[in-house]
Amino acid sequence: MKLDDDIKIVKGIGDKTASLYSKLGINTVNDLITYYPRAYKTYSEPVPVKTTVEGDRVAVFCKVVTYVESHNGRRYNITSLSAADDSGSIRMVWFNMPFLKNKFHKGEEYIFYGVVKYTGNMRVMEMPEYFTEFQYQKTLKTMQPIYPLKAGITNNSITRSVKAVSSLVETYPDYLPDEVIRENGLMSRGQSLLQMHFPENEEKLKSAIKRVALDEFLGFLIGIRRLKEEIVKEENAHKINEEARCKKDGFIAGLPFELTNGQKKAISDIETDMSSDHMMNRLLQGDVGSGKTVVAVAALLMNSISGYQGALMVPTEVLAVQHYEDICKMLKPYKLTVRLLTGSSTAKEKREILNELKTGICDIVIGTHAIIQDNVDFNSLGLVITDEQHRFGVKQRETLAEKGYKPHVMVMSATPIPRTLAIIIYADMDISVINELPAERKKTKNCVVGTSYRPAAYNFIRKEVQAGHQAYVICPMIEENETTEAEDVINYTESLKQNRGGSVRVEYLHGKMKEDQKKEILHRFINKEIDVLVSTTVIEVGINNPNATVMMIENAERFGLAQLHQLRGRVGRGEAQSYAIFINVKQSKESMERLKVLEDSNDGFHIASEDLRLRGPGDFFGVRQSGDMNFKVADIYNHSDMLVLAQELSLKYPNLNI
Ligand code: ADP
Ligand code: MG
Repeated sequence: MKLDDDIKIVKGIGDKTASLYSKLGINTVNDLITYYPRAYKTYSEPVPVKTTVEGDRVAVFCKVVTYVESHNGRRYNITSLSAADDSGSIRMVWFNMPFLKNKFHKGEEYIFYGVVKYTGNMRVMEMPEYFTEFQYQKTLKTMQPIYPLKAGITNNSITRSVKAVSSLVETYPDYLPDEVIRENGLMSRGQSLLQMHFPENEEKLKSAIKRVALDEFLGFLIGIRRLKEEIVKEENAHKINEEARCKKDGFIAGLPFELTNGQKKAISDIETDMSSDHMMNRLLQGDVGSGKTVVAVAALLMNSISGYQGALMVPTEVLAVQHYEDICKMLKPYKLTVRLLTGSSTAKEKREILNELKTGICDIVIGTHAIIQDNVDFNSLGLVITDEQHRFGVKQRETLAEKGYKPHVMVMSATPIPRTLAIIIYADMDISVINELPAERKKTKNCVVGTSYRPAAYNFIRKEVQAGHQAYVICPMIEENETTEAEDVINYTESLKQNRGGSVRVEYLHGKMKEDQKKEILHRFINKEIDVLVSTTVIEVGINNPNATVMMIENAERFGLAQLHQLRGRVGRGEAQSYAIFINVKQSKESMERLKVLEDSNDGFHIASEDLRLRGPGDFFGVRQSGDMNFKVADIYNHSDMLVLAQELSLKYPNLNI
């Protein structure tokens, strides 16, 4: 058996299983070996029933004290029994497993393993696993893998398949030189893979995860380094001309504000790139509200005046519409053809735009990632910019290159990755940072308050509205939900309208609305036809309405700090004083401490590092999952030591074959 053999070679995998596995992306033996568990289950010593509380995942050693009941309920067959130890009793319930009726008998002893729930005063375990004492002794303290699954595939099936190839796992080739492994105290690749699936203990699992993280980082870094070499070799086929530079100067002079130094520097970096012999590949980093959009517009303008087409890609349609409207206004004097292409453009519109792109009539296209997809042909694509989106992936670049396009690339991001990490992760890119906010901006005033402050907040909003400003209210949910107690957009809007409506115009916006509806609401909000917009976090990225001065966030304790910072960034974008009101419904000590960070600081980098400190590294800002940095295990914060090592190794051994 070899690593690249078809998965069907593995014992027990036939056509049917193979096609199911394929849905998980497992097609070869190697895919199976690198299909890592998402968690592990540890069996622990049984505990007395009485000591268990709701939500505990535990083992209890009990005697069956009743006969086993089995009856057909409305939706399932339900089999149940009562069990007890010296300390108390607990009910065991299984769904659709009628055969268990004959399995258990009154008086027998078993170890049941599962999550404890309370129904009234009674403890219940649903679908517990069960073991004889002897069986349990064998599994005790081992860590069992829990794999990510899709319908039709069981955890057991994957476990068995991996076991069937375990001899191959152990001898998995290691591409790292022995001395590197020794010097850095690393686990061998084979061992790490084996321990990933069947860890002997937590310590070994930790070492295994570290090693896998290193492998992932190295693969990624060597990949982007090669990419960089290719980009540097590539000649710039889209040099901007003198007229473009002149018009850009005119554009800047005509802006209603003075650019910040950061913005000026960024534009001059871009101008240098686009005039040089090489293609631009640049990251523009700047906190929310730092004014990245005008920088993008300056770049698009220079590109189009020089005779090339430009594309601006954003993550949501709502943001695409907003950018489209802003950019049309800003570029009006230049008589360029700007188009909006999104998933909800009609077939006719799409046809027209596609045709204009192909023939070169359209100068600038704005939209979601659809704009660089398969059926889009450009006449002369010179510049691609992505906004508030994760990095421009190697894949996207390849797709374009295959079609013969080699545009300049700029990525704009408000994600405050610490500079030391950014340099490594964006090694293929040059970086411009806008590290200041426009001067006349007043700092947003923050307050973290409990629900009793709501009436005062509403009064305050009313006053702001009377003064001609607008407000956002963010709720975590769209609709009322039985199991979660949190404010929802629909009811909230209703009650605001009823109780406080009057002259204040309130509407709502959420992600599940039709695109047309979303567009309409946003349009009306920006045109000041709506005073208070109640919304879910769909407005989190990018939306710009400088006239909005209040951001009130319900259930603030439910959001991450970084996300709250993004939300707050929707206000404080104009000259007027802005306010952020964080309603802390739960008011636990922990949530107070977390929210205090926002109250005290408006600096994205500071908030990011505090967030990291308070909740420990994890799936931070989704950075880990973004674009082609799609690591299965590695986490740039959690495994920053491995990231640094990977960088060293990628320089020392640029030809490692991972
Ligand atoms: P972000 O960096 O979050 O994308 P935007 O580009 O949306 O920020 O800019 C936010 C607001 O600030 C916009 O209304 C924009 O017109 C305004 N703005 C941008 N640059 C400046 C500046 N130098 N001085 C004053 N206002 C500015
Ligand atoms: Mg923006």
